[in-house]
Amino acid sequence: MPRILVIGGSFAGLGAVKSIIQKTKSTIDPFEVFLVEPKLGILNILGIPKAVIDPDFAVKSFVSYERANIYWDSIKLQDGMEFDTKAVLHSENGDKPNVGIFAEEIAYNQNVKLHFIQGRVFEISKDSAIIQMAKLDKGKLPEKYQPTSKPEEIHISFDSCIIASGRTRNWPLDPLASTERELRAEMTESLEKIVQANKIVIIGGGALGVELAGEIKSDFPEKHVSLIHPHGDLPPEALVGDKFKEQTLEFLKNLEVEVLLNTRVENEHEDGTLQMTDGREVKSDLNFWCNYKRNNVEFLNKHFPSVFAANGDILVTHQFEMKNQDGEIIKNIFAVGDLADLPLVKTAGWAFREGCQAGINAVLQTLGETEGYEAINKDFLNKGGMLLVVGPKQSVCIDFLGVLTVNEPEHLEMYKDYRLSGMFGTYGLNE
Ligand SMILES: Cc1cc2nc3c(=O)[nH]c(=O)nc-3n(C[C@H](O)[C@H](O)[C@H](O)COP(=O)(O)OP(=O)(O)OC[C@H]3O[C@@H](n4cnc5c(N)ncnc54)[C@H](O)[C@@H]3O)c2cc1C
Repeated sequence: MPRILVIGGSFAGLGAVKSIIQKTKSTIDPFEVFLVEPKLGILNILGIPKAVIDPDFAVKSFVSYERANIYWDSIKLQDGMEFDTKAVLHSENGDKPNVGIFAEEIAYNQNVKLHFIQGRVFEISKDSAIIQMAKLDKGKLPEKYQPTSKPEEIHISFDSCIIASGRTRNWPLDPLASTERELRAEMTESLEKIVQANKIVIIGGGALGVELAGEIKSDFPEKHVSLIHPHGDLPPEALVGDKFKEQTLEFLKNLEVEVLLNTRVENEHEDGTLQMTDGREVKSDLNFWCNYKRNNVEFLNKHFPSVFAANGDILVTHQFEMKNQDGEIIKNIFAVGDLADLPLVKTAGWAFREGCQAGINAVLQTLGETEGYEAINKDFLNKGGMLLVVGPKQSVCIDFLGVLTVNEPEHLEMYKDYRLSGMFGTYGLNE
């Protein structure tokens, strides 16, 4: 049976699974699809700036596969997981259509055997993968969350692979949790730290740092919040233009966030005080390191060490096939979403769309067909397309045509819950 491996079950990975199910409806051979993902659901990472100060909101932002109307032929879980496998196994649910998580109703497709493995891909070669039954390694992960035993390993072969493993940031901004319960515990811990701190410093003025500063200062106006950024403007995305950046800065100042530009942290003392490269010392009770993000691509290092752009993203063709620095195309491995080296502002929308397109291409590649591949729409490359909120009352957006809108009521409404309720339809859930 032809086999496709999808690495990562967030926006890009689920987009890929959706389109594979649709594309294989009319194929002669049945396909096997393996999705490998450490979480037992999808976390709306867009809302993490609010989730770290609101555990109830965090839990709502996590859509467990138990609630997502997607039916699997097999599920392999890590030890001790609280998960109602029967609710989502195809064998227990007849030929129920797969509704919901794929944004539209998809009648059960007998041509696909869908398997879920709760793990992380540790290594891939051209046609096989080693999977570890373990959580991801997050930056600045407290000792108590570190794994204590060596994980079980599984080896699987594939004809085609879609890499959709995105990016990791520092804990708690990128929680370790696999389930709602674990997420509540982690976010309660982060809230307690914020409540106890009088002076909070956010290091890094990307979307995460800016939105986090906005959320903390809006909910806790009495706290002193500083944002440190090494450049003269923020956020760093070059494609959004100067006006977007000026507006972002103004919003931060409106909320009385102290913004320190053109300076870097040299050292963090044990008491949280930050030693800056310009000689200043910044006192702090709690630091959020929003300057760190790492593509989840370590599994490529052994067999594909030269598929990376200078910024660490995976080099791809416009059809999402992975390629080497010398231009050689690895035709059966695709990379999509945040980690693909394409000139656009990285968003969930793009990740989902790219995943859908790569899913189609992976099916065609596996069937040996060279016609009909989907490619990224070049009209959208090198364009803006970003929306930032700085607290619940301030938003700035630049669209693909370069039109800037400020405090648009529709945007403020959508971002009250960081687009979560808009996504309920996608997840097939009722509010
Ligand atoms: C604070 C913040 C605000 C944002 N706001 C917006 C916004 O308003 N609008 C918007 O469109 N976008 C926004 N984004 C960007 C958006 O979240 C990303 O573009 C999107 O999440 C990318 O999706 P992805 O599927 O490529 O990767 P990710 O969402 O990063 O998902 C990758 C998945 O792969 C899994 N994984 C990682 N490594 C492995 C492995 N080795 N094996 C198996 N699985 C693995 C992870 O567990 C994860 O579930 C925001 C991002 C942040 C951080």
